[in-house]
Amino acid sequence: MRWIALFFGLAISQGFSEKIPEGLREVTADQVPGIILEMRYSMERNITGKAIYPDGRAWLRRETIQKLTKVARDLREKGYRLVLWDAWRPASAQKALWAAKPDGRFLTPPGKISRHSRGTSVDLSLADKSGKILEMPSDHDEFNAKADEDFSDVPKEVAKRARILRNAMFAAGFSGVPDEWWHYDLRDWGSYEAIEGKGFRD
Ligand SMILES: [Zn+2]
Repeated sequence: MRWIALFFGLAISQGFSEKIPEGLREVTADQVPGIILEMRYSMERNITGKAIYPDGRAWLRRETIQKLTKVARDLREKGYRLVLWDAWRPASAQKALWAAKPDGRFLTPPGKISRHSRGTSVDLSLADKSGKILEMPSDHDEFNAKADEDFSDVPKEVAKRARILRNAMFAAGFSGVPDEWWHYDLRDWGSYEAIEGKGFRD
């Protein structure tokens, strides 16, 4: 029987598990306290209407996770939890999104590198400390005036929450983009290469 135990021991430690591309780490609530994974591209609730990720797990560069951990601690003191809508995005997913909405104002066309493919970018929303998802200025990938950083067109308390998220992200070393209140990048995202992850998650 010993060889069987040895075989399975090796299989668990070396084979059968997915090989994570170099540079990526899994995002878990152990590291990023209280984070709620609501990975929209693993659900039908996204612009393609289909699940384009095989499951709801999330992956980022270590530096991105470290900064996100700071944000989660800061927000916890204020009574909020992070909700993660997207993180590292394989090129195959980027293509599927482009096929559903081929508009360069909102999405990176195939052939150009999406910031999400670098493992430096996150799409985030907020929940309260009990995990209840809170109303924010718009839904994920809702490309209209409510999605931009001018929050004068949304209720005051919603605008306040979006600013709380923005302040916490900026304080931890992220930058934002003017047209998507939910999207944040490491400030030096441009110095990171894309992580292709061929055969992983695509
Ligand atoms: Zn994004």
